[in-house]
Amino acid sequence: MNLPIARLTANLSRRGSLVVPTGGLTQLLTLLLLLALGLGVGARASWAEEKIKALIVDGQNNHGIWPTTTQMMKGYLEESGRFTVDVATTAPQGTDPDFNPTWSDYDVVVSNYNGAPWPEATRESFEQYVENGGGLVVIHAADNAFGDWTEYNKMIGLGGWGGRNERSGPYLYLDDQGDLVRDEAAGPGGHHGAQHPFTIIVRDADHPITRGMPIAWMHERDELYDFLRGPAENVRILATAYASPDQGGSGRHEPMLMVIDYGKGRVFHTPMGHGDYSQRCVGFITSLVRGAQWAAGAEVDFAIPDDFPTEDEVRVREEQKQ
Ligand SMILES: [Zn+2]
Repeated sequence: MNLPIARLTANLSRRGSLVVPTGGLTQLLTLLLLLALGLGVGARASWAEEKIKALIVDGQNNHGIWPTTTQMMKGYLEESGRFTVDVATTAPQGTDPDFNPTWSDYDVVVSNYNGAPWPEATRESFEQYVENGGGLVVIHAADNAFGDWTEYNKMIGLGGWGGRNERSGPYLYLDDQGDLVRDEAAGPGGHHGAQHPFTIIVRDADHPITRGMPIAWMHERDELYDFLRGPAENVRILATAYASPDQGGSGRHEPMLMVIDYGKGRVFHTPMGHGDYSQRCVGFITSLVRGAQWAAGAEVDFAIPDDFPTEDEVRVREEQKQ
């Protein structure tokens, strides 16, 4: 693509001026056209190399580890080489009247937030952002937030706690035959048994987020959220985990990796990620990076790492150097 520029420069300097002799006009126009094409190719190439712009939102969470997990997720996204990451943090308690990120500056928003409602204008701008094609990634207790915010609950598909019950929508899970169950029974949304390592079962391997993952892989110790419920519209369950009654769980195969369509927007939701130890799992890290790429509308090109967990073995990354 440098060739047309070089040729034009040479041509102009040979002439010594922009005065075009008879018969040179066509040649000059051709060269200008080539130059324009060259610039066009250059622009596309640099666009393709541009990183995904991600924004992590945090500031309030019943999980006191949140400042650490935000930095861990920021690190995982940046270390993938695919993202630049900003963080927007609310005031530590109550509705923060000044919390008003410019959502449209970002390709994807990662929520590590479980706290007081955002100001109404911020909720409205966020709805428009996702409706119009923005990406959202929901991590663990972020699906506890905003039990009364109708549009947020449509975005996340399923949630827990926060006053959720049968009015929030059905429980959504797979039965022992692998069939999807939408259970309208009365009852609270959100529960978990004892923390333990558990097996993730890929149910839909034909999705960019799960493609190439082992069908079964061991996730590091975590809370296994069960009895989540919500509008459950446009939800595609990519992977589940069995919430064993032996651990105090529901006895159901609970969604662990989900994607949800909301307007033109894409949402990736994982209820995994309770503790910093849970988020060191290479399966969690891979799901986060791929899920954020997908939600951003980008090509999911993050390869399954060599140290991905196996069916029998948890695999974790060492603590990040601060
Ligand atoms: Zn938790």
